[in-house]
Amino acid sequence: MSHKHPVRTIAIDGPAGAGKSTLGLGLARHLGFLYFDTGVTYRAVALAVLRRGIAPEDEAAVSALAEGLHIEVLPPRPDDDLPYLVHLDGQDVTRALRSPEVDAVVSIVAAFPRVRRAMVAQQRRIASGRQAVVVGRDIGTVVMPDADLKIYLDASLEARAARRHLELTQRNVASRYSDVLEGLRQRDRLDSSRADSPLRPAHDAVILDSTELSAEETLAQALALVEARNAALAPHQSAP
Ligand code: C5P
Repeated sequence: MSHKHPVRTIAIDGPAGAGKSTLGLGLARHLGFLYFDTGVTYRAVALAVLRRGIAPEDEAAVSALAEGLHIEVLPPRPDDDLPYLVHLDGQDVTRALRSPEVDAVVSIVAAFPRVRRAMVAQQRRIASGRQAVVVGRDIGTVVMPDADLKIYLDASLEARAARRHLELTQRNVASRYSDVLEGLRQRDRLDSSRADSPLRPAHDAVILDSTELSAEETLAQALALVEARNAALAPHQSAP
């Protein structure tokens, strides 16, 4: 990961609920970079599958559908509480992507190789040529292997379930802690065991464990990593 320019691209990977979105958004705001959560592309496929009444396990039908979708990630409107907007074939689907129905099938459709190939192409198009914090499961390993900084954000299953449960409660989505925990365990298993681009740290990723850290502490550690990378670039300029 040696680079001769200040950090321009940051990859954040890790399991569901580790705090990747909070960290990614915080970094993007601090640095003035685009924030891009690649999970929205797989969620958009899941939503399209549900809306068309296709069985999520029907690999051929799901793959053909995914290959025909067009996804855009846009800045939010000024009066909006959302960090970004997602358009699926021109229609705003931002909120619909976070439903429990989408949660339940997204990891099934995300395991299909043709779906992944189509979504990786869309992700590279969306991020290309931009200073960006890109969040997902395979960003450091597959989507952006040349990212200037790669962070693998981990946390215990229990800590992740507690955070996700709180987040759902705050959004007035009824949920039980035990169901959230089981759902995460299931998604971890699917994401880590799939043959195509399984969830794992890139060999050159920095592993951050957020189990015992607040969101602020996690952001501070990540910002320190960015500063260290940038400082390492110009040792002569900072020397007396
Ligand atoms: O991060 P988020 O929970 O929105 O991701 C939803 C699902 O999309 C993940 O559980 C995973 O199955 C899939 N995903 C993926 N690769 C990515 C991002 C998300 O497989 N880069």
